[in-house]
Amino acid sequence: MRTFEDTYRHKGLRKKLVDLLKEKGITDERVLEAINTIPRHYFLDSAFDEKAYEDKAFPIAVGQTISQPYTVAYQTQLLEIKPFDKVLEIGTGSAYQASVLAEIGAQVFTIERQKALFENNKRFAYLKKYPNIKFFYGDGFEGLPTFAQFDKIIITAAAPFIPEKLIAQLKTGGKMVIPVGEGAIQRMLRLTKLADGTYSEEIFADFSFVPMLEGKEGAGK
Ligand code: SAH
Repeated sequence: MRTFEDTYRHKGLRKKLVDLLKEKGITDERVLEAINTIPRHYFLDSAFDEKAYEDKAFPIAVGQTISQPYTVAYQTQLLEIKPFDKVLEIGTGSAYQASVLAEIGAQVFTIERQKALFENNKRFAYLKKYPNIKFFYGDGFEGLPTFAQFDKIIITAAAPFIPEKLIAQLKTGGKMVIPVGEGAIQRMLRLTKLADGTYSEEIFADFSFVPMLEGKEGAGK
C-alpha cells in the first residue's frame, strides 16, 4: 500500500535531505531542486513513509531496491543533463531516478527486466506528471536500438562489464554513467564516446548496487 499525500512534514524532511546531499558534495542545483520537488515517499510502501527521506536505499517489489538519494543525485550530476537530452536508463526499479531525470528536462527511455516492476509503474498515477518518460520491459544489455542514439546512458544496477551494445547506442560526445564490478562493491565510471567509436573513461567513487542481470524476469508467467 502506498499513500499519496504530500504534507508539510514530508516537505520539511525533503528539505533536510537536500541539505544533507549538499553537505555530501552534491552541487548541481537542478538535481537538488528535483529531489526537493519529488515526493520520494510516493515511490515506497507507506510503511516506509518517513524513512523515505533518510539517505538510504530501500526494498521495493521482487527483491529490488530504490537507490539511495545520494546515489541518484551523484549519478544524475555526473550525467550533466541538458534540457531535451535523450537519456536511456537501465533498471527502472521504482522509477524514482527516471522521475529525477524527467524533472530536470530529459527525455527518458527506461528499461526494466522485472515484469512486476514494469507493470507497477504503468499503474503509478504520479508518473502521469512525466509524459517525457517512456517505459520498456526488456533486457537492458540490449538497450533500445530502435530509439538510439542517446545523448546519455545511465545504468542503475551493478554491471559486470561495459556492455558494447550500449556504447554503440551512444552519440559521439555522449556520456554513460555506469557502476562496474562483479563483487559487492562497484566503481562508478563515466565514459565519453569518441568520434572513432571508442570511449574515454573517468573513474569516480565506490557504490553498491543490485546486480545487472541478463534476460527478462516474469515473461509469460
Ligand atoms: N533506478 C532505480 C534503481 C533500481 S535497482 C530506482 O530509481 O529505483 C536496479 C534495477 O535494475 C532493478 O529493478 C533490476 O530489476 C533492474 N535490472 C537489473 N538488470 C537489468 C537489465 N539487464 N535490464 C533492465 N533492468 C535491469
